[in-house]
Amino acid sequence: MAIIINGKKIANEILENLKEKTAKLDKKPGLAVILANDNDSSKVYVSSKEKHSLYLGFKSCIYRFDKKVTQGELIKAIHELNENPNINGILVQLPLFEHLNANEIIEVINPKKDVDGFHPINVGKLNSNLNPWAVCCTPKGIIKLLKKYNIKIAGKNIVIVGRSNIVGKPLATLLTSEDATVTLAHSKTKNLKSITKEADILISATGHAKLIKANMVKKGAVVIDVGITKQPSGKLVGDVDFEKVKNIASYITPVPGGVGPMTIACLMENTYELYLKQNQ
Ligand code: NAD
Repeated sequence: MAIIINGKKIANEILENLKEKTAKLDKKPGLAVILANDNDSSKVYVSSKEKHSLYLGFKSCIYRFDKKVTQGELIKAIHELNENPNINGILVQLPLFEHLNANEIIEVINPKKDVDGFHPINVGKLNSNLNPWAVCCTPKGIIKLLKKYNIKIAGKNIVIVGRSNIVGKPLATLLTSEDATVTLAHSKTKNLKSITKEADILISATGHAKLIKANMVKKGAVVIDVGITKQPSGKLVGDVDFEKVKNIASYITPVPGGVGPMTIACLMENTYELYLKQNQ
């Protein structure tokens, strides 16, 4: 049976280390989160970000907007945060209300405060191996998990299912820089099984529950499950048929308790690192 990768434990180690380092600072790192959406998942994610920030001793401000908010009002709020010396990281919780243009709003964030690494300047820097101000949290967390478990990346065939701007694409870039041979599959990929079967490391980020079945996984492969789907019962499940795939894989992440906690730990780490860079 596969070794179950304990993302929660590794994330807690990162958080405890950050808490210790933060306690030694006179001025504390500040994270601002913009919430302009009334969906329940976004509210839960934002509260969790606030809870973790406060636990570490960061300053945390959530800016909540209702449905009537205009594009101009959000842009103005971001300009103010860009100028606020107490704020080191700015995060716009996605998705936004439908009438808002997320791409335009993200472009207004000062790239030096872009804690999610979504600003086009940071995406461009990542793609050019030019040290972005911050690297997207979920891909960064996945690389940390692989390294913590001494899973070799260089030379491996890695298949990522899902090509979003926040997970699949930046993860492909990071893994390519680590000398892996990366295949990026998506909803229009033909014969997905024949591709996933070749993976030494298979990473799924689709939000399609149980998409990855046991017969799609090579024996001994490392399986990383990014997906989170809430079932009608309220239970959270991943993209991978965990109970069956764990008998074939060599390592596997659970949902919850795998990639999710690493994303939040990396967000906190990014806030701390932006603080240091802005105070050099
Ligand atoms: P998205 O919805 O923007 O994109 C999904 C991707 O999956 C697309 O590229 C699509 O082509 C692909 N896809 C969908 N169905 C597919 C199928 N049947 N076969 C092959 N490819 C398919 O996704 P996202 O924002 O990257 O999120 C993906 C999932 O990861 C969601 O469940 C989300 O909740 C979760 N997520 C988890 C974390 C975490 O920290 N654990 C972070 C971000 C996203």
